[in-house]
Amino acid sequence: MIIILKQDVTNTQKDKIKSVLKENGLIIKEIRGKEDTVLGAVGVNRMDPRQIELMDGVASVVPISKPYKLASRELKKEDTIVSVGNVRIGGNRVVMMAGPCAVESEKQIMEIAGAVREAGAVILRGGAFKPRTSPYSFQGLGEEGLKYLRKAGDAFGMPVTTEVVSPKDVAMMCDYIDMFQIGARNMQNFELLKEVGKTGMPVLLKRGLAATIEEWLMAAEYLMANGTDQVVLCERGIRTYEKATRNTLDCSAIPVVQKLTHLPVIGDPSHATGMRDLVAPMGLALVAAGASGLIVEVHNHPEKAFSDGPQSLYPQQFEKLVRDVQALCPVVGKSLESVPRIIPGNITDESAAEDTAAATDELVVAFQGERGAFSELAVRRVFNEDVKVLPCRSFHDAFESLNRGSVKYAVLPIENTLGGTIVDNIDLLTRYPNITIVGEVQVRIIHNLIANPGAEMEDIKKVYSHPQGIAQCREFLEREMPYAEAIPFFDTAGAVSFVKESGDMSAAAIAGAPAAAYNSMQILREGIETNPRNYTRFFVLAREENADVFRSSNTPDRAAVSFTVSDTPGSLFDALEVLKEHNLNMKKLESRPIAGKPWQYFFFAELELSSPDALDGALEALKEKTSDLKVLGYYKSAH
Ligand code: PEP
Ligand code: MN
Repeated sequence: MIIILKQDVTNTQKDKIKSVLKENGLIIKEIRGKEDTVLGAVGVNRMDPRQIELMDGVASVVPISKPYKLASRELKKEDTIVSVGNVRIGGNRVVMMAGPCAVESEKQIMEIAGAVREAGAVILRGGAFKPRTSPYSFQGLGEEGLKYLRKAGDAFGMPVTTEVVSPKDVAMMCDYIDMFQIGARNMQNFELLKEVGKTGMPVLLKRGLAATIEEWLMAAEYLMANGTDQVVLCERGIRTYEKATRNTLDCSAIPVVQKLTHLPVIGDPSHATGMRDLVAPMGLALVAAGASGLIVEVHNHPEKAFSDGPQSLYPQQFEKLVRDVQALCPVVGKSLESVPRIIPGNITDESAAEDTAAATDELVVAFQGERGAFSELAVRRVFNEDVKVLPCRSFHDAFESLNRGSVKYAVLPIENTLGGTIVDNIDLLTRYPNITIVGEVQVRIIHNLIANPGAEMEDIKKVYSHPQGIAQCREFLEREMPYAEAIPFFDTAGAVSFVKESGDMSAAAIAGAPAAAYNSMQILREGIETNPRNYTRFFVLAREENADVFRSSNTPDRAAVSFTVSDTPGSLFDALEVLKEHNLNMKKLESRPIAGKPWQYFFFAELELSSPDALDGALEALKEKTSDLKVLGYYKSAH
């Protein structure tokens, strides 16, 4: 039964209720929801619910109609988020788990771990105890395999999961793994479920070969009743009369299960189909159906695999699948889960150098463009003059560096007073759930004509710059140097280093003064922009875990949100009315196409906050009038 507590229940009252329930042999689970606190009490109930209803602090008592209780959505409305190491499963994330069917050797698991991590997997799988149909088939390397799996997981910064087949191995396995896997053949091995449940560790519970959804959830209940609330369900195909595939993938189980339980459910397209070329389409189908992730078998030499070779993807096929899943994520309102990478000692490329900074927790800030760009100026304005920077080729690269922890912050442009919104960064912001806006900075754009030392104004026949730079200096170019050709370039600072490298005395670039200084170039003319009121606004971005540090010294007075509204008259009006009702002044509103949903749009809005928590009161109402509402960050405005 579910005991809903009164909002003003005291701790003493709560303890009393719990002890009465315990005395009656019930297992109690306290769940704090957004609105209510409830106690789930399960077990053989000898108590009259009315007796509990009369206790101080109890608002009401509701029976749980389903045979599974702790796993039921009736007991807990909100999605459970399961934490496996630094990876979180559930909610609006899609988690990619991959690895070989079985750990075959240290070299094999190391190679595959490196490949799947590079492709975007965040959890490593690999069987050490294999429940094979034939006693003559490879049974796994046992504890030795666990050691290799752990080593590979640690080397590439991935938590690991592996199948447990015997209750007697449970304690030993705890030392090596982050999540137990209960295989399809053992879904109803109740002694095993009890032993694994008692550890309190995360468990990946595969659906049995011929299990109904209810039986599957009852197996989850066994785990939960014995002590773990960290259960991830996994649909891996069921036995039907169909022989064309190894099993029949029950895609509809995903949304069905999501209605019945708060536990996350993922899919295993490898065992469901048994054939390599069916894995990607069915993997995508599972994500489209709402799965919180995929577990996929990947092998570096599938043709030589000790088990399940025909269904194992080559690493490059897995990489393609991850990219396709990532593209599909926004369609189902989710994002691909990613966590910081750690680079093993023996890799010494440039990205390793970047990542070392993260490991030593040094302050490094990413920006887009070359050294000396306006964006670098923005970085130095927010942090100190000699902060270490990471120049990135694209906005996407800057987001990636931040997301994987190579840098602590990124400073990226969001809007220019003449050029308008930099829409790419709005789109990227909505795609990285772990990245949030923490600050804002404004930089005045002063353009200069920059040339090689010794060059004279009269020598200049070609002017390179970003198209915006050229457009913003149009009057100067037409008035002072009508004979010169304006040539568009990738970015302003890049144009300066290009002119320098060319050594061409007849070429110049339009860029900011720092780009001239950085490249030891000569400024021929200063402040050549037509409109001096030319400003670019930048957002300071951080990963969620670093956000509070920044915000504590820069108290937010703005918030940015994204949302969609229904395709009906007045739906945007209704959403904006909520802002009015809560006295939230809107500073900007932009509509953007939704990737993967032609002719559908999301809105990006920036709101003025009278106090840092001014948005809190409006969120519930806003949620009711919108879909996919996301708070993209809180920050102190720069103007
Ligand atoms: C496995 O994951 O390698 C496995 C044996 O899966 P299942 O239990 O789903 O058959
Ligand atoms: Mn397998």
